[in-house]
Amino acid sequence: MAAKLVVAGNWKMNMTASEGKALVDALKPLVADVCPCACTVIVCPPFTTLATVIEAAKGSNIHVGAQNVHWAANGAFTGEISAAMLKEAGVEYVIIGHSERRQYFGETDATVNARIKAALEAGLKPIVCIGETLEEREGGKTEAVLERQINEGLAGLEAASLADLILAYEPVWAIGTGRTATPEMAEDTQKAIRGFVAAQFGDAAAEAMTIQYGGSMKPENAAALCAQADINGGLIGGAALKAASFADLVKNAVAGNSEK
Ligand code: PEP
Repeated sequence: MAAKLVVAGNWKMNMTASEGKALVDALKPLVADVCPCACTVIVCPPFTTLATVIEAAKGSNIHVGAQNVHWAANGAFTGEISAAMLKEAGVEYVIIGHSERRQYFGETDATVNARIKAALEAGLKPIVCIGETLEEREGGKTEAVLERQINEGLAGLEAASLADLILAYEPVWAIGTGRTATPEMAEDTQKAIRGFVAAQFGDAAAEAMTIQYGGSMKPENAAALCAQADINGGLIGGAALKAASFADLVKNAVAGNSEK
């Protein structure tokens, strides 16, 4: 039987609290018939929209994640948010190491690693982003980059903690560009990623791990992508900003997954 999917919407720096509430209010009835046994549906609003969205999502099958977390428990880190703050606010998931954070905010594999450890310690489930740039892909470095991001990003974790961690493979050249990896291309890379996880943590942990695809996933291509053996859902940017397109994407992803 196909493993359960996880589909998460990364709202990035979009949606005020009132806009986020309106989106979740519209999304709730549209995904109400999506069985949690088939797909975990997550939305990841900006920090200031989290509380309102958590309240709006109560009693529904929509889960809530943040987009970043600091590694320190507290202290002189102006502008940062700790894992305990997110946990107490009712957040369940947190995106870590998104390529935009790596590109614009100096995120490295070492800081990704520190953030993952803080998140897990606080009981949050990290959605850890990895992916190669166009230059790296064209230079034949895709697998080496992913292996390094996995080995260094997940360094020092117990295999058991991988059950609470999601990997999101996001080729940087496919994010927000409309240029999606073909299902076959994505599958080849996702399979290699599972192999790198197996080499570090063993076959059982790698087999059980949720590995999402991200990069211009839309309602139109979600089924074909999620029909691939090693694609267990998606991390969605643009298509998550409208309730109807996100709900259609979730349903098509579930349909594609059920063909496995
Ligand atoms: C993302 O930012 O994680 C993403 C996948 O964006 P988009 O779906 O817009 O390509």
